[in-house]
Amino acid sequence: MFTKILIANRGEIACRIIKTAKAMGIATVAVYSETDRNALHEQLADESVAIGPSPSNESYLVSNKLIQAALDTGAQAIHPGYGFLSENAEFCRLCAANNLVFIGPPVEAILAMGSKSAAKTIMADAGVPLVPGYHGDDQNPEIIKQAANNMGYPVLLKAAAGGGGKGMRAVYAEGEFDEALGAAKREALNSFNDDIMLVEKYLLKPRHVEIQVFCDSHGNAVYLFERDCSVQRRHQKVIEEAPAPGMTDTLRQQMGEAAIKAALAINYEGAGTVEFLLDAQGEFFFMEMNTRLQVEHPVTEMISGQDLVEWQLRVASGEPLPCSQEQLTINGHAFEARIYAEDPDHDFLPVTGRLTVLQPPRESAHVRVDTGVVEGDEVSIYYDPMIAKLIVWDTDRDRALQRLTQALSEYRIGGLTTNIGFLYNLAISQAFQNGDVDTGYIEEHEAEIFRQRDRDIDYAAPLAAAAILKLREEQAAINASRSAEPNSPWHMNNSWGLPQPKLCIQIQRAEVSIVTNTTLPDLTNSNISITESGFDLFTPEGFFHCTEVSPDLGLDTDNTDGGSLRAPMHGTVVSLLVEMGTPVSKGDTLLVMEAMKMEHTIDAPADGMVTEFYFQPGDLVDGGADLLAFAGSEK
Ligand code: ADP
Repeated sequence: MFTKILIANRGEIACRIIKTAKAMGIATVAVYSETDRNALHEQLADESVAIGPSPSNESYLVSNKLIQAALDTGAQAIHPGYGFLSENAEFCRLCAANNLVFIGPPVEAILAMGSKSAAKTIMADAGVPLVPGYHGDDQNPEIIKQAANNMGYPVLLKAAAGGGGKGMRAVYAEGEFDEALGAAKREALNSFNDDIMLVEKYLLKPRHVEIQVFCDSHGNAVYLFERDCSVQRRHQKVIEEAPAPGMTDTLRQQMGEAAIKAALAINYEGAGTVEFLLDAQGEFFFMEMNTRLQVEHPVTEMISGQDLVEWQLRVASGEPLPCSQEQLTINGHAFEARIYAEDPDHDFLPVTGRLTVLQPPRESAHVRVDTGVVEGDEVSIYYDPMIAKLIVWDTDRDRALQRLTQALSEYRIGGLTTNIGFLYNLAISQAFQNGDVDTGYIEEHEAEIFRQRDRDIDYAAPLAAAAILKLREEQAAINASRSAEPNSPWHMNNSWGLPQPKLCIQIQRAEVSIVTNTTLPDLTNSNISITESGFDLFTPEGFFHCTEVSPDLGLDTDNTDGGSLRAPMHGTVVSLLVEMGTPVSKGDTLLVMEAMKMEHTIDAPADGMVTEFYFQPGDLVDGGADLLAFAGSEK
């Protein structure tokens, strides 16, 4: 076994690999770009080496820098993780040329699977069922079109060198073909510097079911069952699970054996994934083989009880596979949700910024969080904006799904927008609960997943109001315990729970008013998590982001041009934004308060000026306390 390895990656996967290496007593070397100077992976490793500027093509993708770092630190092997150089045959060769073990398959296997077209030819020869289509060398557009016409529409054009859904176009009729081919080729050329295309029958609503395989250098091969990755957005995985819902033992065995056949056809070694499309009739077709550890490998680990990184290290160092096929069994059910800094309400645009709050759910035998960031870290523009992978396990699918929704509702991330609410809505949607998934799932259930309709807001508003009152009570209790000293002013000032006849709440993008002296609903089945800009409400009917907005903030309504302005709730004065005696306009923000981790602004009720501030930044104030004196200007 190796005594020291270098990890040519960053983020959660680098941390994941370090964890296993540590457990096996193997020393680790991390590499880091400028942005990642103090990143978690750099901190966790025994040693670390700077590899240059933040853009990955100047650091994580520069083979020579990584090889040099390994040689300089005396590492014997390089683990490439996923992405970056993990499927780069040249890098694999360069490792060998420098007497470094590449922790992955042999270069020939990477090359064989590097082109989707060449891979299909090899698989056809090995007798693995393929998605029907044309993957020939003759790239004459007329030939490709003829193949499409013969098989009938819709068809899917794919870049042979493709990945990440790029260079892919569905074509629904012959009339659209030429334009689609041109566009797909341009995209492929841009992304992969290669515009070789193949065309496949576009299966309608198939499932994406992939098989985890493992082979060693002694001729042993096993499959560690399947993962269902059907829930996708733009052909990219969103939630993965194992085992696949509804999978039968017979089909599992057939797919597993086909996957092994695929791996043996290219003399595979190490961890690999054979991706299939599965149709409603239970027929499955080879799509491609990924010659690396996959992002979603944890769901397989959870149901098999095996550590796949440990397997990779053992196989790469020449040991036989730790288990035979007969020794492998499935225990329970697991899900993985990919938590991203992105904005589902704005076409899932990636979001960057600081993770001012980052409190994942507590890890246990049921909940695992694979991440590469900690509170205070920045999600930068340079890399994939994945924050973490949330993995849950339980004895059956229903229970595991319950764990997933619970854990999502406990995840607290502040400072930037994430897809947690979207994942939660997805996880509680009825068809997903039933295990009725296919690759069109998100599109088909869009209305249910993106809940912003009036009916939903009407449902959420009283819950949001109840949540605000509950949070206030909690805040009051905290304040009370803070001020237990006998002479504390908090003792004398006992106005907690001041009657608040009306609350104004922004729910998603709608603003609503709620009268709070009516009976508000029970919060037993809902969960609230406080974020910077308000709070997230997870209800049995869906996720809602809420912010309390205070239109009058305790203002004496019959005296808008003079008098005092009161604190809407117990909290801290954060800042005073104007000078005393300086004229301000109606609506200008005078003071900022913070309560329940939410900021509340106190605005000028009219043109005029603040004549006195009664508190300074940092002061604690009680709900209802006069904050400042305001004098309206003469009309
Ligand atoms: P990439 O390598 O770019 O991720 P894949 O070939 O793995 O591309 O395909 C990604 C996804 O696209 C699949 O998981 C599936 O949802 C969809 N897809 C691919 N081929 C087909 C097909 N022939 N019919 C229907 N859907 C397909």
